[in-house]
Amino acid sequence: MSANPARVSNENTAVPNDLESWWMPFTANRQFKANPRLLVGAKDMHYTTHDGRQVIDGSAGLWCVNAGHCRKPIVEAIQKQAAEMDFAPTFQMGHPKAFEFASRLAHLAPGDLNHVFFANSGSEAVDTALKIAIAYHRARGEGARTRLIGRERGYHGVGFGGISVGGIVSNRKVFGPLLAGVDHLPHTHSLKDMAFSKGQPDWGTHLADDLERIVTLHDASTIAAVIVEPVAGSTGVLIPPKGYLQKLRQICDKHGILLIFDEVITGFGRTGAAFGAETFGVIPDMMTTAKGLTNAAVPAAAVFTRKHVHDAFMSGPENMIELFHGYTYSAHALACAAGIATLDLYRDEGIFENAKALAPYWEDAVHSLKGVKNVIDLRNIGIMAGIEMAPREDGAGKRGYEVFVKAYEKGLMARLTGDTIALSPPLILTRKHIDDIFGILKDAIQSVN
Ligand code: PMP
Repeated sequence: MSANPARVSNENTAVPNDLESWWMPFTANRQFKANPRLLVGAKDMHYTTHDGRQVIDGSAGLWCVNAGHCRKPIVEAIQKQAAEMDFAPTFQMGHPKAFEFASRLAHLAPGDLNHVFFANSGSEAVDTALKIAIAYHRARGEGARTRLIGRERGYHGVGFGGISVGGIVSNRKVFGPLLAGVDHLPHTHSLKDMAFSKGQPDWGTHLADDLERIVTLHDASTIAAVIVEPVAGSTGVLIPPKGYLQKLRQICDKHGILLIFDEVITGFGRTGAAFGAETFGVIPDMMTTAKGLTNAAVPAAAVFTRKHVHDAFMSGPENMIELFHGYTYSAHALACAAGIATLDLYRDEGIFENAKALAPYWEDAVHSLKGVKNVIDLRNIGIMAGIEMAPREDGAGKRGYEVFVKAYEKGLMARLTGDTIALSPPLILTRKHIDDIFGILKDAIQSVN
């Protein structure tokens, strides 16, 4: 858990001559290229920037490097696997590390979420889970259950399934018409009713009742699944109200609807337990994961399914025993090697336990920003937080962007969504790192109008 500065060779530090050819994802390219922020090295809790500065990683990359950067056991596992067997097909073929990784994951997951389907990204995991949900009902003779229910302000990646059940207008509006037969629950954030709540808000459980309204509107016999993030991450760290997820579970059970938790962010220790399902005490029928699955060292994703979901296929109609779905890189050998090494690190260093132990200190640090100018809400759970600032008159997101840039200049990389700064550092952090993160962020907020 040392904070050794990342070592970087000189040839990496120059800004490339050609900044045009790469069309960057989720980035205002012109704005970025006028003042590029380039990362050239990483170690444990820190990145090294192209101009040689150390910045603390306040967002674990993109909510994914939970065990810290460039950890030796993971690096070595990848190197060894790359030399031994770089790739093996997983259609009608297998390799031992895929079975080992799946078995380790099945034992880590709560309840009977004990079967694992591999993909390569959160987006792929989401599309996989949605397809399994629809096929599950078909396998059980309920082929009319095709309708999917997401949530406003939900983020489920960028596949057509994911943006259809997702609830972020900018990700949807120019890509229509999207999947048919999708409804959305209301989001769970209200400044008026829950601002500055610590942990789970007391207000908002009733928002789950909207699911009954949707069931009444369409009839349960047409609904396949509900998908929600236990904590909505990308839209600003929206913590579920107390009892809300339990209520969704009850309503889904009552009507035979599958409940899917998108744990791409909340999986692997972020909330202080292995999965959000454990933190919140609700077992979904399926769980999508990625990011922390391999500590982001190799792209990978996993969909966990409960026994009854898996059984519906294995003992279902003959033509559904094979799931006609999968990716060339499902259970990629390098991903499995990285993933096993990652699970070892999580266990051997007690990384989830560290997150849990530091959560109260983290909560105090988050809420120490109450009263800082422009801050209108603070939200926290485990080692994640949303710091929401009032939008400025010159446009929503402008103040947030300036704070994000200032923080980066002062030595903190955070994640920006609208006027909310989202924090989710590697879970190997110490109190000192928490002090550093909030010290820099406070400074940055105070320096922006
Ligand atoms: N679901 C959730 C909850 C996510 O947070 C993300 C990514 N931030 C995704 C899905 C998509 O993952 P990816 O970018 O790996 O496709």
